[in-house]
Amino acid sequence: MTQRGVRRAILVGGGIAGPVLGMFLRRLGVEVTIFEAREAPLEREGAFLGIAPNGMNVLADLGMAAAVQARGAPCAGIRFENARGRRIGVIDQREAARRFGAGLVMIRRGALRAELAEEAVRRGVEIRYGMRLTDIDRSDPREVVARFGEGGEAGEARGDVLIGCDGFRSRTRASALPEAPAPDYTGLLDFGGFARCPGAPLSPGWNVMVFGRRAFFGAFAAPGGEIWWFHNSGEPDPGSAASPGPLRERILALHQGDPGWISDVVRATPEVLGPWPLHDILTMPRWHAGRVCLIGDAAHAATPHAGQGASLAMEDGMLLAMCLRDEAEPEQAFATFERLRRPRVEAIVRQARRHGSRKAVAGPVAEWFRDRALPLFLRIGAAAQARVHAYRIDWEARAEVRGGGEGTRG
Ligand SMILES: Cc1cc2nc3c(=O)[nH]c(=O)nc-3n(C[C@H](O)[C@H](O)[C@H](O)COP(=O)(O)OP(=O)(O)OC[C@H]3O[C@@H](n4cnc5c(N)ncnc54)[C@H](O)[C@@H]3O)c2cc1C
Repeated sequence: MTQRGVRRAILVGGGIAGPVLGMFLRRLGVEVTIFEAREAPLEREGAFLGIAPNGMNVLADLGMAAAVQARGAPCAGIRFENARGRRIGVIDQREAARRFGAGLVMIRRGALRAELAEEAVRRGVEIRYGMRLTDIDRSDPREVVARFGEGGEAGEARGDVLIGCDGFRSRTRASALPEAPAPDYTGLLDFGGFARCPGAPLSPGWNVMVFGRRAFFGAFAAPGGEIWWFHNSGEPDPGSAASPGPLRERILALHQGDPGWISDVVRATPEVLGPWPLHDILTMPRWHAGRVCLIGDAAHAATPHAGQGASLAMEDGMLLAMCLRDEAEPEQAFATFERLRRPRVEAIVRQARRHGSRKAVAGPVAEWFRDRALPLFLRIGAAAQARVHAYRIDWEARAEVRGGGEGTRG
């Protein structure tokens, strides 16, 4: 139980934010149940993601950094190329561990989710699969009641608090904060896959990102020779993502004329995954109502272009647990949490939008300028990126708002 009386916490969503928050709450002795809509943990789900140094430092606090890195792979950095295969910029991450205490780690999404969920269960978090939140009853000011159903198992759960960790389409948000704006569609679809393509000119441990003529392509050469890749292309209508059709041919057509290895990798992929329409949430009027609070993508989804969504979800989990530990009442804890987090996450969502807008294809003249301006953007952006990566939360410090509303003491 937290110092001031949160004994039972209901967490909706067992993705990234949910298990991380659950483990920190267990540290405080809180009884935690995660209700997850999926029927079962799926190791083979989604594509892959990068956990930035700031996210790895949260995992380090949980004693999980080594286990997560062992299931993924350290990443030396990102090389950017244009459609002719010419290198136009580099983000070197090889010094990250020395500078920030942790490096950048690439990992399959399913492996990360499995590692977090398994460890959370080992630490006493209960995870109930096949439980889809449908509604929240907040009529009793002393507790919160969650209702489940809609294809999942029907049921009800009562807790002192309910935390929505249910991603950018959050049902918690729709139920407790109905005035919240819908997520914005960014105009980009994401696809991905895993392939073996020994001829591809990729260096192990590096990400290569190519501004193609019609689409953007990224590939990571993982240990063991596998290539993990993603593709982003513009699509004004996110509904078209659902239209059936041969994904592989669609992607190959968009990379015609780009460096040939891209098409080789796509052809060598047993199963093309996606499409995922990319959305974000720049700002919401508030993140909490009564005994209900949102964290992770449910509160502030960022597009993948800044590589921060998962790390922010982990930071949220750690800091919210500290706020519940240090504030007298849940509502106060949620207000402090929101004030501490909002400036950082909104700046990062904005940064991700800016990065994404550079992926849009704008014709040969704009490309000519982009190729020359990118190294400058990367140099200017390096300081901002270092600040994002250097952010550390100190579990021993008190979670409280200082003058400008940013940071914890200590
Ligand atoms: C294509 C793509 C690539 C990305 N790449 C990166 C990257 O490289 N680095 C990075 O940091 N971030 C990346 N992100 C962003 C990152 O995936 C998210 O920010 C992160 O997953 C957020 O974690 P979360 O726990 O808040 O939400 P999620 O991971 O989305 O988890 C939400 C969970 O809630 C469950 N759920 C939903 N509704 C209900 C309900 N009604 N009842 C019960 N359970 C429910 C879902 O099944 C899910 O398990 C990427 C995102 C995308 C789409």
